[in-house]
Amino acid sequence: MAYDFDLYVIGAGSGGVRAARFAAGFGAKVAVAESRYLGGTCVNVGCVPKKLLVYGAHFADDFEQASGFGWSLDEAQFDWATLIANKDREINRLNGIYRNLLVNSGVTLHEGHAKIVDPHTVEINGERHSAKHILIATGGWPQIPDIAGHEHAISSNQAFFLKELPKRVLVVGGGYIAVEFAGIFHGLGAETTLLYRGELFLRGFDGSVRKHLQQELARRGMDLQFNADIARIDKQADGSLKATLKDGRVLEADCIFYATGRRPMLDNLGLENTGVKLDKKGFVEVDELYQTAEPSILALGDVIGRVQLTPVALAEGMAVARRLFKPEQYRPVDYKMIPTAVFSLPNIGTVGLTEEEAREAGHEVQLFESSFRPMKLTLTECQERTLMKLVVDAKTDKVLGCHMVGPEAGEIVQGLAIALKAGATKRHFDETIGVHPTAAEEFVTMRTPVAG
Ligand code: FAD
Ligand code: NDP
Repeated sequence: MAYDFDLYVIGAGSGGVRAARFAAGFGAKVAVAESRYLGGTCVNVGCVPKKLLVYGAHFADDFEQASGFGWSLDEAQFDWATLIANKDREINRLNGIYRNLLVNSGVTLHEGHAKIVDPHTVEINGERHSAKHILIATGGWPQIPDIAGHEHAISSNQAFFLKELPKRVLVVGGGYIAVEFAGIFHGLGAETTLLYRGELFLRGFDGSVRKHLQQELARRGMDLQFNADIARIDKQADGSLKATLKDGRVLEADCIFYATGRRPMLDNLGLENTGVKLDKKGFVEVDELYQTAEPSILALGDVIGRVQLTPVALAEGMAVARRLFKPEQYRPVDYKMIPTAVFSLPNIGTVGLTEEEAREAGHEVQLFESSFRPMKLTLTECQERTLMKLVVDAKTDKVLGCHMVGPEAGEIVQGLAIALKAGATKRHFDETIGVHPTAAEEFVTMRTPVAG
């Protein structure tokens, strides 16, 4: 049977655009539907605007430290509206780039909400298009628990467009987004409380990293409240918000920001017209080839709930395009050793196993750990410390994991990830000459294992 398209991609985010462009490049006839914004979450309400706000917040540190180097400044002033307007201009520019990328690679762009009406047909803007393969790349959406008054809370989607910087912010959650936005609000001058339901935030990260970041955020004056959760939110007559905690305490704020995870975006997608199955957490279930239970439908990226990171969605998009249209070049995505950064202030960078994961996997571990005041701060009052940690297999000498908290941790860990992917041993690290003077050289000069 002749179809209108070889591949119909729903969602022009990180994974969808990558799959569409490469499939078109391999000669397939491809369409992409996008209901909201070209480039998806990462470009519009994720990685990119977030990083721009983190840069903005970091200037507070730079101004504070400048006097140690002889600079004197009048009191620094910050204007939220300028930062947001400049950020919006840059995102508009990127939207245009994404449009050109798609159109120039020969992909047909349909702007509107797409609904699957049968396993080979998508309906959008009142028109139906048939396709041999349909790819669901619809991403995720913030999930706020259904507590009384939850409508007064905002998520990351709204935070990027606030008219003004709130004076007092309560950030709820202990994952990437909560920690990053707490750093943004605090750095830009808001009185910030980070409220997390468990003992210590960033569950799943290395224990030393979590403790180190806790100490650094507390030292900066952020109010960290662990083992705490909100039972209800009430709006007060003056417009401020009152959060009543489960333990009965009451906190007041001008903005309550929830970052408590993301659900798959499946709203009105028409999955009921297909044999697509969902997993226990409600994400689209796929096999190792991103194939759903419906033979003509594939899915990738945040909507399958594996690793919710842009470079992973990109890799999955590439794998799908190759498998369908250039099978001789197909390589499966390797989910091991995925490096990641949390753009908290200071940053976290990490790749490989945490100490806890290494022990659990049965490795006899050797640990190398260093906490130091970086050279840049020696002329300043700032007491911030950088943490570096290596988790090594004592038997094979293989470096299992590298973890860092400190400036540019993400930049540093990207290079280390290549070494770990190539199977580097501690001896390789030891025999690597350092770049002096840098903070990164500490990764190749840690010689004495710490008691593990
Ligand atoms: P998305 O990028 O979400 O794209 C899905 C697209 O589908 C959207 O544009 C949506 O509008 C569209 N869509 C949905 N339903 C339909 C429909 N029915 N019809 C038509 N279109 C539809 N990752 C990192 O690696 N580094 C970071 O620093 C980072 N920071 C982040 C910060 C925040 C605040 C958030 C929320 C996420 C961040 N992420 C980061 C995660 C990253 O953004 C996602 O992993 C990535 O965007 C997933 O790509 P995707 O293609 O699966 O989905
Ligand atoms: P995460 O899954 O990372 O964190 C969710 C947090 O919310 C956890 O601390 C969790 O606690 C807590 N939580 C969940 N449900 C509730 C609840 N009902 N009440 C109170 N607390 C709750 O999600 P995020 O929203 O922070 O981010 C989503 C994903 O986006 C990330 O996992 C990451 O993959 C990606 N991302 C990546 C970034 C980067 O690469 N720098 C930046 C931002 C996002 P608990 O641990 O106890 O379950």
